[in-house]
Amino acid sequence: MSMANDDEVTITENTIIRQIKELEAENASLRSQLEILMRQNANLSAELQYYKKEVEKLVSPPLIEAIVLEVLDEGERAVVKSTTGPNLIVKIDSKISKESLKPGLRVALNQRGSTIVEILNEREDPVAQAMEVIERPSVSYKDIGGLSREIQLIKEVVELPLTKPGLFKELGIEPPKGILLYGPPGTGKTLLAKAVARESNATFIRVVASEFVQKFIGEGARIVREVFKLARKKAPAIIFIDELDAIGAKRLDIGTSGEREVQRTLMQLLAEMDGFNELYDVRILAATNRIDILDPALLRPGRFDRVIEIPAPDLDGRIEIFKIHTKKMKLTRDVDFKKLAEVTEGFTGADIKAVCTEAGYNALRANRRSVRMKDFMDAVEFVKNNRAVESRGIKLDGKEQGVSIL
Ligand code: ATP
Repeated sequence: MSMANDDEVTITENTIIRQIKELEAENASLRSQLEILMRQNANLSAELQYYKKEVEKLVSPPLIEAIVLEVLDEGERAVVKSTTGPNLIVKIDSKISKESLKPGLRVALNQRGSTIVEILNEREDPVAQAMEVIERPSVSYKDIGGLSREIQLIKEVVELPLTKPGLFKELGIEPPKGILLYGPPGTGKTLLAKAVARESNATFIRVVASEFVQKFIGEGARIVREVFKLARKKAPAIIFIDELDAIGAKRLDIGTSGEREVQRTLMQLLAEMDGFNELYDVRILAATNRIDILDPALLRPGRFDRVIEIPAPDLDGRIEIFKIHTKKMKLTRDVDFKKLAEVTEGFTGADIKAVCTEAGYNALRANRRSVRMKDFMDAVEFVKNNRAVESRGIKLDGKEQGVSIL
């Protein structure tokens, strides 16, 4: 009997121990579930906050922009000129520090236009942002490889009229107004424009036409006007319009407002060029990779009527460019420019510059003080694999468009 009792006790004990273990396991599992749920809860709360803020942004009415004209009543009120119309006398929100409010500041009024609720940052003038103005560029003709014929042509049509206008007047000839440089990306068009500005002692003013379309929407025509105004003021000057095709591409219809805006910018450019009569001290250069899509109106006489092709460099050109970009590098004797030029067929000046930089890095990585031929050969392979944009063949039917192609 007592044996049986002992057995029963043991069985009950075992059952209890098993049950405790099961409960502990369940407890652990519930705890980990709780942890997961708490984490999910935290994530959902964060998401909820985000969406609440987004909804707030969507439903909040717009504020009104205004300029402070005068601060009144020791900073209690102010006279502002609102962009919606009349001058208003408005209150100043208590969050705004009275001392910081000065005439001329840009502020935001609440929706009812009754209170200044925020001081805004000064808006950067897009005209200043759009232009790169260099009084004396650092690039000279000797920094450009493989383009001696092109440099000669540019000297005649850009540099001479700027440096010796009398010569043209005496001979009774008019230099071309606009010069279009075309060719694959990275062949040195910008470099040439900068160098000719330097050699002619002219101010270099550069605008990138694609930015009118992407960055300065609605300001294109004004920027063009201001660029020409500045060029007249800074004359002798060279206006360089990069990526001209962004505003100068042929269009079949001008349906969207974006296209109309591009068209307005182009019309302003043409009007400025047409209005320029004695253009001896301001020369206009433009660059494009896509002359095939340009609006023929741009290529008419009196506009971009001189077109100069800037091709990818040939073998000798590549040797020259290698020499230019390794001028400051310490090289071992085995570096052979001819061989490098041979294995870089189809490379542009920008590609060759990339090869030289990469070769330098190869030496740096190997902890060497000078750059070897192998560093260059590895760099050539690297650049070949990384060349994002393949040079494209560019078609030009100059005769049809009445253009003189040099
Ligand atoms: P994109 O059409 O992309 O504007 P681009 O033709 O204007 O190109 P650049 O900006 O002048 O080309 O060239 C890019 C860089 O490549 C230059 O700063 C220069 O270092 C190098 N480079 C290009 N062409 C030459 C060249 N002919 N001689 C020496 N360096 C060159």
